[in-house]
Amino acid sequence: MTDYDVVVIGGGPGGYAAALYGASAGLRIALVEGDAVGGTCLNRGCIPAKAQLQTAEVFRTANHAGDFGINPVDGSGTFSADWGKVSERTTGIVDRLVGGLSGLLKRRKVEVIRGRGVLTPNGEVSVDGQAIAAKSVIIATGSEPKSIPGFEADGERVVTSDHSTRSGTLPKRVAVIGGGVIGAEFASVFTDVGVDTTLLEALPGGVLPIGPDQELARTLAKSLAARGTKIHADARVSPPERTANGMVLAYETPTGSDKIEVDQVLVAIGRAPVSAGLGFAEAGVEVTDRGFVVVDTNTMATSRPGIYAIGDVVETPGLAHVAYAEAIVAIKSILGETPVPVDYTRVPWVVYTHPEVAWAGLTEAEAKEAGFEIDIHKYKFSGNGRAMIIGETDGLVKIVAQKNGPILGVHLIGPWASELLAENYLAVNWQALPEEVGAFIHPHPSLSEAVGEAMLAFTGRSLHG
Ligand code: FAD
Ligand code: AMP
Repeated sequence: MTDYDVVVIGGGPGGYAAALYGASAGLRIALVEGDAVGGTCLNRGCIPAKAQLQTAEVFRTANHAGDFGINPVDGSGTFSADWGKVSERTTGIVDRLVGGLSGLLKRRKVEVIRGRGVLTPNGEVSVDGQAIAAKSVIIATGSEPKSIPGFEADGERVVTSDHSTRSGTLPKRVAVIGGGVIGAEFASVFTDVGVDTTLLEALPGGVLPIGPDQELARTLAKSLAARGTKIHADARVSPPERTANGMVLAYETPTGSDKIEVDQVLVAIGRAPVSAGLGFAEAGVEVTDRGFVVVDTNTMATSRPGIYAIGDVVETPGLAHVAYAEAIVAIKSILGETPVPVDYTRVPWVVYTHPEVAWAGLTEAEAKEAGFEIDIHKYKFSGNGRAMIIGETDGLVKIVAQKNGPILGVHLIGPWASELLAENYLAVNWQALPEEVGAFIHPHPSLSEAVGEAMLAFTGRSLHG
């Protein structure tokens, strides 16, 4: 007797999206979660990290209120961060979202089973020795922070994003190891709230060396450096040594070696899939030597019939919204429908640093490497009225298009780039011509006019460009 249509292992964005979408299509679903529903994203990732970034935004705004003609009635007019209160606020947001998600799962009649799910060799899921029978299984066990030997996290001196997203205290001096998306976001927060911040990245470039168009990465690095982040690219760090006052961290760069003393080291060198010890290989589910579950991305099916995998545990972009999209593909496959697979070359990417970085599609370098003859037009936010009004004129819109052809990639850095991406994501995926997008009206005054101007420039004419 089969109890469920689908049993999902892991209740993060991948797993809970599969459960909610599957239940909305009439499937009977069990969701096995060993910790809190919401996974990394809600509990110790996207949501708390963005709450801290918003605090940094308020901090900047408050301390620059005088620029807008707003002065304190009394006092010095400078503001400080109360990280205990920040942490309380973050916890409040997380609790509301986790509570809302739990309610939604209940209303959709998804059975949430608490415990660690493992696969048995016959392809069933077992939780604490109890087998849960289902026609299909979805693996959505997600990922966890990677560590470096000698940098084992203790949650106080050496930490990962798991700790920093929920901490109630701020270090005075911090070294962030890794300048990828997570490291850059934390460096941005720390710098803006007055923490003495050093960023050490193994690759040349220093900030976001992999992923975005490098013109954007350089613009972000310049902005962070101007605000006080000490960035060391091409850096080899040695394990920290504890001292009476903190920790000493030695590092080497092509220009020489140096040491810094810090109170905390945040290790942000990437994330590894959670797949070890869960019986995957024994159940016939192929796993790569780096621990990713191998899938056919047309269906998200693993090598074992009836078992699917989605989210960070598969080797696709480690983003919550990619996990959502993969959940829909897996459920449609289970329903016997023909899903539209995720086009991984055109997913939306956002880095919520100050300034924000957002893109979809090919970078200039990728487009050239793919052999396209390309045209590029850019528009700087320094020429945009709304950017001046909100006091954030750093950044630009950069459009990469095939010569006399469709848009291949859109790259944004600047105010609300995260929200501006939506139109551009659509244009890239619709394979629109830049002049088609340029012919649409963008409201005035708005940040989106920068996009309209960059698109219009492809016609050889312009308004304010
Ligand atoms: P996870 O969210 O990791 O969830 C997996 C779940 O499975 C966990 O709850 C875990 O407890 C559970 N689990 C694991 N093994 C078992 C088992 N054997 N039995 C039962 N349960 C199990 N992405 C974005 O798109 N936007 C962002 O702004 C963003 N910011 C981020 C900021 C930080 C600091 C971090 C760390 C990540 C961020 N991400 C962001 C990435 C995002 O969090 C992940 O891509 C997303 O959480 C992946 O979802 P998932 O369901 O695959 O895995
Ligand atoms: P992401 O995968 O986006 O979280 O980025 C992780 C970043 O950490 C990448 O830019 C890596 O190059 C960087 N990185 C990995 N290992 C190290 C290391 N040992 N020291 C410094 N940076 C590292």
